[in-house]
Amino acid sequence: MGKRISILGSTGSIGTQALEVIEKHGFEVHALAAYRNLDMLEQQVRKYSPKTVCIYCEELYGELKERLSDVPVTVLTGMDGLCEIAADTGADMLLNSVVGMVGLKPTLTAIDAGLPIALANKETLVAGGSLVMKAAEEKGVPILPVDSEHSAIFQCLQGNSRKQLHKIILTASGGPFYGRTREELTQVTAADALKHPNWDMGSKITIDSATLMNKGLEFIEAKWLFDVTPEQIEVVVHRQSVVHSAVEYDDYSVIAQMGVPDMKIPIQYALLYPDRKPCPTGRLSLCEYGQLTFAEPDMETFRCLPLAIEAIRKGGTVPAVMNGANEAAVAAFLQGRIGFLQIAELVEAAMNAVPFKAIASLSDVLEADAAARETVRRMIG
Ligand code: MG
Repeated sequence: MGKRISILGSTGSIGTQALEVIEKHGFEVHALAAYRNLDMLEQQVRKYSPKTVCIYCEELYGELKERLSDVPVTVLTGMDGLCEIAADTGADMLLNSVVGMVGLKPTLTAIDAGLPIALANKETLVAGGSLVMKAAEEKGVPILPVDSEHSAIFQCLQGNSRKQLHKIILTASGGPFYGRTREELTQVTAADALKHPNWDMGSKITIDSATLMNKGLEFIEAKWLFDVTPEQIEVVVHRQSVVHSAVEYDDYSVIAQMGVPDMKIPIQYALLYPDRKPCPTGRLSLCEYGQLTFAEPDMETFRCLPLAIEAIRKGGTVPAVMNGANEAAVAAFLQGRIGFLQIAELVEAAMNAVPFKAIASLSDVLEADAAARETVRRMIG
């Protein structure tokens, strides 16, 4: 019998692609959760017959329950619902692919319950990396990366000694505004930013990709997942998104993982690990690409990347502040309330405004996150 998978964020880009992978390999869907997409969630429940379903937005709970009154499924809502699914060890694995800080508590809940996690929710590690990795180690719960770069790094580490890892080479597409000047960026809109050259993603991550904050979040994610120092991570712009990342060992040997830019490959690696089977995606033809290019990132123009690196160097609650401010600023940009360059300005302002604190518990992270969002709200006015 196939694995039983629970998915938080099942109607998003990662969630829907994960369901394709699950279907292809005959796995079972144990539970599904979505933010607010009722129509798609209802369709998914009818198609995949999970035991439990959760709609995060509580005002939609009644309608979902009514729509599914003919289906034998338990309907949940809110953070309690997400955590109930995360704690349900009737599943073999939890795919956490929600967007934002909201994923942190369910991740910690799954670890506490001993449920292996396929992690696509990068904000979890950015804001609460120290708590998550410590808890996972104590409980012996595997955390398998779904982010394409981290899946690549994880794959490059297989069969080698972690002690002989010298550095991580984190590749970045450069986003839709690669090569632009700050001057040119003053005018760009959310619609411009949502046209990503290589990857098909949700709107939050697409804006993060345009500001290079996505790479900043991934930098922090890599630090926690692979237990390296910030000095051991090098960001390299690679426009074709074919080399998904690489690692350098002490003998200067560099091992990279390549493939077509399609999230189904890293999703499948996490769900099937350590198995490798045909993936529902295209295959890589290097000759079709002809050339692969590499360059240094432009940290003067794209300020979010150096801000994220500064945040993890400082440690404590600073990355949580950086992340909370970014989530609030990106939401404001998507609503057309602030300009593109203001995202980095607001992140920097919040990092300066909210005092440093060491992280002792989840409440330290949640308070830092709330203070950062409040700072951004006040500044936008
Ligand atoms: Mg990525």
